[in-house]
Parts: sequence; structure tokens; C-alpha cells
Amino acid sequence: MKFGTKTIHAGVSPDPTTGAIMTPIYQTSTYVQRSPGDHQGYEYSRTHNPTRSALQSSIAALENGKHGLCFASGMAATDCIIKMLKPGDEVIATNDLYGGTYRIFTKVFQEYGIKFQFVSMADISTIDQYVTEKTKMVWVETPTNPLLNIIDIKGAAEICQRRNLLLVVDNTFSTPYLQTPLDLGADIVMHSLTKYMAGHSDVVMGAIVVKDDELAERLAFLQNACGGTPGPQDCFLVLRGIKTLHIRMQRHCENGRKIAEYLRQHPKVGKVFWPGLQDHPNHQIAQDQMRDFGGMISFELKDDQIQAAIQVLEKLHYFALAESLGGVESLCGHPATMTHASIPQVERLKGGLSDSLIRLSVGIEDVEDLIADLEQAIG
Ligand SMILES: *Cc1c(COP(=O)(O)O)cnc(C)c1O
Repeated sequence: MKFGTKTIHAGVSPDPTTGAIMTPIYQTSTYVQRSPGDHQGYEYSRTHNPTRSALQSSIAALENGKHGLCFASGMAATDCIIKMLKPGDEVIATNDLYGGTYRIFTKVFQEYGIKFQFVSMADISTIDQYVTEKTKMVWVETPTNPLLNIIDIKGAAEICQRRNLLLVVDNTFSTPYLQTPLDLGADIVMHSLTKYMAGHSDVVMGAIVVKDDELAERLAFLQNACGGTPGPQDCFLVLRGIKTLHIRMQRHCENGRKIAEYLRQHPKVGKVFWPGLQDHPNHQIAQDQMRDFGGMISFELKDDQIQAAIQVLEKLHYFALAESLGGVESLCGHPATMTHASIPQVERLKGGLSDSLIRLSVGIEDVEDLIADLEQAIG
């Protein structure tokens, strides 16, 4: 089955009792048993729910995995993955991680004796230097936020296989439409379904996909034991969103390219960060591991001041000023004062995140309207 067919058909089948073509929202906590232990595979909805099962199978198929697990948020999925570790274990993570991931690692799990090292993965062989006998896991996010750096997943997988480490890839920005990390050798794919997968800015959810049966069993045990599972209504919304993932992503990518090219020739715009640009520092890796380059773009203003960026953001009309990304509507944000405000300015600038940097989540509107909006706002 090809990708676009999978988004519509994988994991779902007509409801056996009525023939309903759409998977019903099984709004139930428990299931009647004929005799103690004699049931139809469902006992209690924290453990299993048919709406969730359909979504889990759908996402597993899209990622070319075998097992999917869904969670109440992306953070709950991350929480489940790290709970496989024990005090004393070490994790090597991308240095420019999603802020919430950095926070749960340093403010929650470090307190439980798990050690995290944050490493620039621009040159993937750097990982090797940080591996100790306690290292258990490598955590990669690519493209990164908001600078859209690309990390070589295959390169990371080779090191992890040689060193016997688990490789986790946060695939939220790319979605399986753009890249399938399990095919490149990753062990675990993690998602915030809140973003492109659900795609309509109306739900918060997360997921994990793996191929390995034993790994799936451990994660499913933790999912049920710790209980960060989503409700069936939210699972339904994500299932519905996924049916148009391929056509939404196609348009996000097309609009992304046109806007990146527009910004690049604008006299008031400085650097433009989009992995599809020939001169993006990781363009070749992006070309090798991604099928297209997505709708996330960041850019600097030549007038590199916070105030200049704020003026542009206040004038934008179709690009709504909001956190999050990946919905059908375009969003804009200012990392220096919003998502990355807690990082001291010196550190922020050292990491290449300038005062005027604006991040766009390019939606699927008509691109002419989006460009006209940028034109009137940048001036
Ligand atoms: C949003 C996001 C998360 C966290 O997901 P939630 O659904 O908000 O809990 C993790 N990683 C990335 C890359 C994200 O964008």
C-alpha cells in the first residue's frame, strides 16, 4: 500500500456491528465479560480502546513500524520512553531540542538520577565521544526548532547499532510523509500528534511507534501502568486528520518553498532557514533522508532587533501569532521572546538564535495571500 492509500485505509475497517465506515468513538471505560476473563480483547479503556487501537495501527503503518502506542500528549509519549531507563543510565540528546523535551529531561528525569548530555549533532560522529558504558539511548530531533538543522538519522543509527544504544527520533516536524526514521535504522519514533499529524489545531496528543516486539511490550506495559493515555474522542479527531495528511503535507511543502524563495530575495530579510534551500548547511542530508522539505521556515531581519521582529509579527494578518505548528492555518512566532525566552540572551545568540528571528508554520492557504501578507508586514 502506498502512503496516500495508507492514510485513508491503514488500521481502520468498517465497524463490525453496523458497517459504519468511520471508526466509532467508543466512549466507554469498561467492557462486559461473558464469564470472568472471557472477553473480546477489551477489558478497561486505559489498557485498550477500539478507537485508540485503530489510530495506533494507522500510525504504525504510516511509519513502516509494527506497533503504535498513543498518549494524551507528546510529552506523555516522551515520559513513557524515558521511564524504560533506570537511575545511573545516560542519554545523549540533540542540543537544540524542543523546549518541553529539554524541560522534562533536566527538571524531571535528572532528579531521578538519569543523566542527559546535550550535544551538537551537526557532525553525527560527535556522538561517539560522549558514549560511556552507562549510555543507553540517543535522542534525535530533526529538523530542529527553530533553526531547522538536519541531523543524519542513518549516521546516528550506525553508531547506535555498533554501541548497542536505542535510537529515538522525534518525528513531529517531518511526519512519516517526509521521513520514516525506522527505515533509516531508528528503534523508536516519537510524535506530538498535536502538530501536523492531527493537523487542525484542535487536539493535543502523542504517539510512539516501534518495530521490535519486545520493545513494544515494555512500552505498552509502561503506557498502561503509568496511564497517560488519550480519550477516544481525541483519537477519532487524529484519525480523521490523518486521512488528509498526504495532501496537507504536499501543500505545506509547496507553500514552504515559495515563501522561502520569496523571503530570500527580500531586501529587508537576512538569513532564511529552510532545509530545501541549496545553501542550507545540511541540504544534502535533508535531500538524502527526507522526501520534501516541509512548511517550517525561520528568518532573520537585517534590522536584527527584537522590536523590529515584534512590529512585523503585529502586522501579520493570516499568520496568527501563536505557539504550536503544523495546522492548516499559518502561524508565526518569535522564539527569542516566546518559546526560547527562558534561555539567556548570550546563550541564545551563541546557538545562532538571533533577536529578530521569526518562525513561520506555513499553512495550506493560497500562497499568494500568504506572500502578500508578508509583503505588507515586512514592508
Ligand atoms: C509540540 C512538540 C512536542 C510536545 O508535544 P505535546 O503534544 O505538546 O505534548 C515534542 N516535540 C516536538 C518537536 C514538538 O513540536
